[in-house]
Amino acid sequence: MTFDVPGAIHMHSDYSHDGADSLENLREVCIARGIRWVGITDHAEDLDEEIFGEYLAHCASLSDDAFRFIPGLEFRFAGFRGVHLFAVGLDRWIQPRNFQEFFDGTSTAARFTVLAHPVLCRYNVPQIVLDRIDAIEIWNTNYNTRYLADPRAIELYHALHARRPEVVATVGLDQHDSSNDREVRTLISADDMADPADALKAGRFRTSGRNATFDSVASMSPGEMRSLRVRRTAFDVVERLQNRMVIAIRRLAVSR
Ligand SMILES: [Zn+2]
Ligand SMILES: [Zn+2]
Repeated sequence: MTFDVPGAIHMHSDYSHDGADSLENLREVCIARGIRWVGITDHAEDLDEEIFGEYLAHCASLSDDAFRFIPGLEFRFAGFRGVHLFAVGLDRWIQPRNFQEFFDGTSTAARFTVLAHPVLCRYNVPQIVLDRIDAIEIWNTNYNTRYLADPRAIELYHALHARRPEVVATVGLDQHDSSNDREVRTLISADDMADPADALKAGRFRTSGRNATFDSVASMSPGEMRSLRVRRTAFDVVERLQNRMVIAIRRLAVSR
């Protein structure tokens, strides 16, 4: 099976308070970039039942054989900072107050669920999420940058995959503004274009970014894993130094 139809997961439109692009604009920009399908994940807290109905119709009106929106939402949960979950292929409004309600609701209302950017909850993932999630986002180009995947997210994924082999590893753009394309893609086969969510759940995809590609279970040799950890640590040190320099330069500018 050749995985050569690019798509993207984790995109926000202006249905999100912090999203810059209309769905029309996203469709146009994605087609220009060769992206044929998008698992869109607007912030659930920015919609209500009525707006979600409009959102579903809006996504459908902009989907055809050339390009497809898979409607979905990104949920957050009171008391669990940084634990964000996607419901991908969501076909009706749900308003989960906790993880149990999220998984019970999505089991019939959504096609696929993902734990987003585990770095944001410092990899402290509630047990019920580990027990019921369909995928872990091992590379979020917003939090992890476009240059390197997140080795700790991959370790978290591998540990879960050993126990639950059906769980897959996804990558996410976390795009809020299409003028910045951070380049990660999810590739499926042409045969799956009619239903990309099915391909995601079944692991019929591979992922790619600027300088790495992964299969759907993030297979890595111990050597590759070591190398990623070393590069990640070095990259993070440089990034922190740069941030400090920027702050120092700003302070200098202000004190003059
Ligand atoms: Zn998030
Ligand atoms: Zn997001």
